[in-house]
Amino acid sequence: MSNVTVCVRFRPLSLKEKKVHGDSVCITCLDRESFIFKDEKEEDLPFCFDRVFYQDSAQADVYEFLALPIVQDTVKAINGTIITYGQTGAGKTYSMEGLGILDCDENKKGLLPRVVDGLFQCINSSPEDIKYAVKLSMVLVFGYLFDLSKDNVQIKENKSQGIILSGASEMPILNTEEALKCLSRGISNRAVGETQMNVSSSRSHCVYVFSVQRESAIDKRVKTGKLILVDLAGSEKVEKTGAEGKVLEEAKNINKSLSSLGNVINALTNGRGNHIPYRDSKLTRILQDALGGNSRTALLCCCSPSSSNASESLTKLIKTPPRTNT
Ligand code: ADP
Ligand code: MG
Repeated sequence: MSNVTVCVRFRPLSLKEKKVHGDSVCITCLDRESFIFKDEKEEDLPFCFDRVFYQDSAQADVYEFLALPIVQDTVKAINGTIITYGQTGAGKTYSMEGLGILDCDENKKGLLPRVVDGLFQCINSSPEDIKYAVKLSMVLVFGYLFDLSKDNVQIKENKSQGIILSGASEMPILNTEEALKCLSRGISNRAVGETQMNVSSSRSHCVYVFSVQRESAIDKRVKTGKLILVDLAGSEKVEKTGAEGKVLEEAKNINKSLSSLGNVINALTNGRGNHIPYRDSKLTRILQDALGGNSRTALLCCCSPSSSNASESLTKLIKTPPRTNT
């Protein structure tokens, strides 16, 4: 069984889409794993994924299916990655953060606050003789890296720790409340950082790294599980954004990192010991030891149910070949 889970989530139609597209939804649900997508040319494209979340899906269901098993493994020192992918406005940040980190309505809470809850629940219910230390760092990636706490950071590789973000501040976190405050601060800094660097949130990746160290009181062995969550930049084509000059260069960089990530994920899902091109971009370097090996990856492809471009995102991400007999 593959360590990569690929899911799709359709958000509800927006008001604008209802007006422009006359309330038409281009997908027909077949079951929890497959659907038919009617593209711009009115062609029916069948798709099949590990799980499909339709417009009425609950944030809790998304968490339970794709994140909870990874959270449980992180506490056992197995690395994991959870990624949201898709066009700008498709629901990546809604799925990742929800509608705010602090004081959020329970059913609007996204993956991040649920992951924090899940991590501390696992930690608090584990045997007394295991001591845990949790740290959180957050970086913004767009051509170069921007620490959401302060300085710029570099990627370094270290034999014992694997890929590390040197210069990225790691904040020690003792409980759920602290983690949520930290996340909320980081997310506000994201907006500040993006304004300072003059990049829009659709053109940068936001990377959250939870490092969970466990030490056994019996044999004193120390192991660390790293859980990385990534809210990716929008997957739309550069030409469509009308970017020029420096912005165009940045957009190309981001698109390159998205296609490198796609290549890495494809190599991992098809993989039988083939070469995995981690070194092709900063993003895949950061994720190197959280993707592949015995680590677990969940990819959530966020889509509009009416977007004329959604089939493009889906085709890139297709995991199992389309069912031709449906
Ligand atoms: P992205 O981060 O991919 O650019 P957002 O997460 O910001 O997109 O979503 C765009 C808009 O759609 C936001 O107003 C968000 O609240 C709303 N939205 C996205 N997904 C859902 C969903 N599953 N249910 C309800 N509203 C959603
Ligand atoms: Mg977003």
